[in-house]
Amino acid sequence: MAEEYDVIVAGSGAAGMVTAMRAHDLGLSVLVLEKTHKFGGTSATSGGVIWAPLHKQGGFDDTRESALAYIDAVSEGPVRRDRQEAFVDTVALMAEYLIKSGVALQPRLWPDYFQKAPGARMDRCLVHPKVDGYRLGERFHLLREQFTRFKLFNRYSMDFDEANTIASRGPGWIMQVIKVIGRYWVDLPARTKSRRDRWLSLGGALLGALSEQVFSRGIEVRLGTTVDKLVTRDGAVVGVEANNGGRRYTVSARRGVVICAGGFEKNQRLRDKFLTVPGTDRWSSTPEDGSWGEALEAAMEVGAATEFTETTWMIPTMAMPMKNVSNYDETHQAVFDVGRPHSLCVNRNGDRFVDETTAYDRFGNAMLDDHLKTGANAPCWMIFDATFRQKYPAGGYLPTAIMPDSKITPDQWDNYIFKAETIGKLAEKIGIDPAKLTQTVANMNAYAKSGVDPEFDRGGDAYDQAFGDPSVKPNPCLGAVDKAPYYAIRIYLGDIGSKGGLKADTDARVLDGNDRPIPGLYAAGNASGSVFGNCYPGAGASIGPASVFGFRAANDLAVRQSNP
Ligand SMILES: Cc1cc2nc3c(=O)[nH]c(=O)nc-3n(C[C@H](O)[C@H](O)[C@H](O)COP(=O)(O)OP(=O)(O)OC[C@H]3O[C@@H](n4cnc5c(N)ncnc54)[C@H](O)[C@@H]3O)c2cc1C
Repeated sequence: MAEEYDVIVAGSGAAGMVTAMRAHDLGLSVLVLEKTHKFGGTSATSGGVIWAPLHKQGGFDDTRESALAYIDAVSEGPVRRDRQEAFVDTVALMAEYLIKSGVALQPRLWPDYFQKAPGARMDRCLVHPKVDGYRLGERFHLLREQFTRFKLFNRYSMDFDEANTIASRGPGWIMQVIKVIGRYWVDLPARTKSRRDRWLSLGGALLGALSEQVFSRGIEVRLGTTVDKLVTRDGAVVGVEANNGGRRYTVSARRGVVICAGGFEKNQRLRDKFLTVPGTDRWSSTPEDGSWGEALEAAMEVGAATEFTETTWMIPTMAMPMKNVSNYDETHQAVFDVGRPHSLCVNRNGDRFVDETTAYDRFGNAMLDDHLKTGANAPCWMIFDATFRQKYPAGGYLPTAIMPDSKITPDQWDNYIFKAETIGKLAEKIGIDPAKLTQTVANMNAYAKSGVDPEFDRGGDAYDQAFGDPSVKPNPCLGAVDKAPYYAIRIYLGDIGSKGGLKADTDARVLDGNDRPIPGLYAAGNASGSVFGNCYPGAGASIGPASVFGFRAANDLAVRQSNP
């Protein structure tokens, strides 16, 4: 006899874990099926930031009108107002539910990504503080590892405060480095067991806390089990076919199936089929074994509609060659590097194309637009000088005081990182017209002097300035690129996941080609289309809606009749 649950959740990232917890708390029996041999998904590797307009933590005074005005102003494409309202009206409830359950979300200041848009604010984000991973017992080792590049020296966990102080060489940064490393080495019980830092931070902390709640409720998270086919009866989804290493079996769902299986950005076939500029799956910074889109295709097979599949949550990435690690671990997100002063970004014609300090998804969209126009972007180049190299981290290298050029291995020179004594010689090395690049840099140096970038307004709003260097005057985001040697690193049109997926309604019910809900089928997170269309309004704008629509799916499942 087939196994039977009220609800089957495909995927164990943020969307899946919130759905499972909530459905259980509303009295439903739940099984989570997870494709990989680790739970937590891309969510566990992420920054773990949740964009939560109207959250009530910390006494902030956001309003529904201002949140919707902002979303309205920045969203792009055929978005649906009812979904956006459902998001805004539920996000505080969802956050309160998690906090009351023991997921200790805290407010964190982070400028919305379109500071000049009406309704933009600085206080819409929630994050989770560090979690002792050993609270999960032996399951700690089954929680997906945090993103290697979010760790100091690829090993030591840091939270946002620690990472910011170290990256910006803020007051006390050396002590901070010592503290982070010391915390790891004095932890003898963990050191005798594994290399992994037991302190979970960022997305690791969020998924550590969520999964602790899921496990404490006795919900089974079955690893190594892919949902790649849906079982239907009379047009309703009544279960799944699970694939456990080639062994196929059916599990029935009395109420419904919630697809929380992430995006498709690691599936080259689906990238080629859907994305405007497909690139390669190596450009993406998400784990290699997760986001292949099998569940998306299974839903499409039963008539599900899709939306926004042409685009991703974009982020500039670099691919640093490293020994003994997977392609995924080589990926470096250049998101903070590109905005620091004493640097600029150019396409392969040597032209600037963006305010380099802008938020990562906007940077990616500028790369895409420029590539469609010139054919000479994606990849493009980040150029910086010796002052930059001395002061800031870039491309995965810490500043020269910690990591001098002599420590960079020979295989990385003139392959990953390029260096020359003049801008002209650097241009020759990377295949750009030397006169053009020299002129572009000269323009930038004039802007650094005046503090005004008349081309792209770099440093022109609060978001830009938050990632600049206050010691650089008159504009913290504009510093002259005039001290030899000069460096260049290639930037790819990377992503943190695909933005499009199954078209769903306000309760996360998946719609068919005629916008009618397919009974018994739900989707949340990157498995579903972005509620903001082709836009990333603020930090956490992926995990925020993923959690909200998982929460709403569970609410809806709890009040609906069983499937036919
Ligand atoms: C380095 C990095 C930093 C980021 N920082 C942030 C941030 O701070 N805030 C934010 O909002 N976003 C951030 N993102 C993006 C964010 O992590 C993802 O968009 C989000 O986690 C997606 O959540 P999800 O639950 O939809 O998918 P996931 O977390 O990817 O979970 C999906 C799960 O489903 C499993 N799965 C896949 N296919 C199947 C199948 N067929 N059957 C069963 N299981 C399946 C996968 O293995 C995976 O475990 C970041 C991403 C990266 C890479």
